[in-house]
Amino acid sequence: MRKTMLVADRRYMNHFAGSVHPERPARIAAMIEMAEGLQRSALKHSAPREASVEELALCHSEEYIATVERTATCERTNFDPDTHASAETWATARLAAGGVLTAVEAVLDGAADNAFAIVRPPGHHALPRRAMGFCFFNNIAIAASCLVKVRRMRRVLILDWDVHHGNGTQDIFYESPEVLYMSTHQYPFYPGTGWLDEIGSGAGVGFTVNAPMPATFGDSEYLRMFDQLLLPIAEQFKPEFVLISAGFDCHYRDPLGGMRITEDGFIAMTRRLQRLADECCEGRMVAALEGGYDLQALAKCGRSVIDELGRDGDEHVTAAKDGERAMPIIQRASYFLKDYWQIEPGEG
Ligand SMILES: [Zn+2]
Repeated sequence: MRKTMLVADRRYMNHFAGSVHPERPARIAAMIEMAEGLQRSALKHSAPREASVEELALCHSEEYIATVERTATCERTNFDPDTHASAETWATARLAAGGVLTAVEAVLDGAADNAFAIVRPPGHHALPRRAMGFCFFNNIAIAASCLVKVRRMRRVLILDWDVHHGNGTQDIFYESPEVLYMSTHQYPFYPGTGWLDEIGSGAGVGFTVNAPMPATFGDSEYLRMFDQLLLPIAEQFKPEFVLISAGFDCHYRDPLGGMRITEDGFIAMTRRLQRLADECCEGRMVAALEGGYDLQALAKCGRSVIDELGRDGDEHVTAAKDGERAMPIIQRASYFLKDYWQIEPGEG
């Protein structure tokens, strides 16, 4: 068994975006209830710390951080039609960014082999100077920046399987060769970014990899995408740390997303990434919650991923079968990325 650290806290329920908002406190309650029911001796629990303003400033401008801080004096602040802060949002968002840092530190310090951070509000749409898409601070990007700028790592992988494209994360690292950002997402869909030709720029060209997919794709298409595009690139990159933007809104039950991933799909994606981390960086991997709006699916998928993080070995990784519908996208992605990575999509 691997030691897995769960970072969770009921204070993540304090941020309130509105009474009919899908990104709601009950998401955390469902995840914590699930986590409390897990019977595993190798499971550890940790409370999150708050990210410091200096840590937030690794990815966000000081003016923007001050803008979010000021929302603590107002009952409600609207950043865009989807993104609303309550008086508790500033503290909760700092705790979300800090929760992913707590998870990363547990793995770096050897307190755990890997970790799952059950945090909210989510982060991957947050831009350096702008809140959007339910997100205020880019939790996963702040963790990656910490690994690069504070811990002096040179290669950090972020794999984002949330149903939405992580435009904020992409933007923050678009010119960075130190952070490889890979995203599978429904397309066309919110927020509209994440097409195949978005591959990074300047020194970061080739270090953004997008896998935009039409609604109705499920486990077999995602696994084909992993096996024939994402993992071959990630293996060449040789990450020193693997971060997952773990949104569960690509599950078939999700009310916002149109994809068809099942619990088995999340298990298979987790297993593949853990194998990659085992090969490249002694298994160091942290998953952080992003979206996921069906409470039952959220808890089941969270449990599946956490269970899989605890498992040793890779005996149940078998190559993706079927999923031929993903092949045209893999081939087109290969065309854009061929100057930077060796990819042989083949016919499958
Ligand atoms: Zn999402």
